[in-house]
Amino acid sequence: LAKHHGGNKLKFYSTEMNTEALYRLELESYLRKALEKNEFHLCYQPLISLATGKIYGSEALIRWNHPKLGLVSPGDFIPLAEETGLIQDIGKWVMLTACKQNKKWHEMGYKDLTISVNVSANQFQQMGFVAEVKEAIAQSGLDPRYLNIELTESVMLRNISYSIMAMKDLQNMGVKVSIDDFGTGYSSLSYLKNLPFNTLKIDRSFINNIHSSNSEIAIVKAIITMGHGLAVKVVAEGVETEEQIKLLKELECHYAQGFFINKPLSSKDFEKGLVNQG
Ligand code: C2E
Ligand code: MG
Ligand code: MG
Ligand code: MG
Repeated sequence: LAKHHGGNKLKFYSTEMNTEALYRLELESYLRKALEKNEFHLCYQPLISLATGKIYGSEALIRWNHPKLGLVSPGDFIPLAEETGLIQDIGKWVMLTACKQNKKWHEMGYKDLTISVNVSANQFQQMGFVAEVKEAIAQSGLDPRYLNIELTESVMLRNISYSIMAMKDLQNMGVKVSIDDFGTGYSSLSYLKNLPFNTLKIDRSFINNIHSSNSEIAIVKAIITMGHGLAVKVVAEGVETEEQIKLLKELECHYAQGFFINKPLSSKDFEKGLVNQG
């Protein structure tokens, strides 16, 4: 990339810039058409209850499959969707699709399944957001208690007083709110005590090193203890080994999610998992 210095620095740099700028423009023009061309789908990653080992629900994760670019990861196109405003329509589609899917699973008999939906800053911070959630609930017929909205600290902190209001509105509708990637943001504990939320999701960077470092264990332990004290649920993200699961269970973490349990699955494969566990 532009950071590497070639022989002819200036030329190399400008070529790289052009390539990146062009790629971005191309990506943007493709992204504009992706919804109408039906190029998005959702994957569902199971969350299990550590007490029972059973599936508690899933997190909906967007996937973009472009005919020419192939699979583009959300880490690459969500920021672009944010910058261009396309996130409004994409986010709306995710919300409705996820609610409908979860309702379908309820109708199949899996009545306690929860669905978690990620919401990014520009989607959450627009005034119509709560109404949009209400609309998705009405259209899908999903009981709002089974919808969980995932917000990162940076999303909430962008406008803290508005965030508190909107989170309360969601909770008054029966919807639950999670703080995603907890521990990586900048929220101080004094913010945390004012934020109305139901679940803390411990960022996977803490879970990753849980067995190689005592300080990492101490942090995870402290977050779980804090969760119990605040009477909220705690989810461990990015669980990749059996040792991690064991330890999290000992620490009385409520839920776990990660590649050790399952990768994000198509709705069909998620269903197979439900059927198999009976
Ligand atoms: P996130 O909400 O923290 O989602 C968890 C991410 O961690 C997912 O990446 C998931 O595939 C990955 N993951 C799960 N278990 C493991 C594990 O054991 N190890 C490792 N290394 N990774 C694991 P994904 O699907 O690429 O999504 C990345 C991020 O993009 C999400 O982070 C979320 O912030 C955003 N995102 C995904 N879908 C949506 C969406 O529908 N709307 C919005 N606004 N953002 C989304
Ligand atoms: Mg999430
Ligand atoms: Mg996360
Ligand atoms: Mg993340």
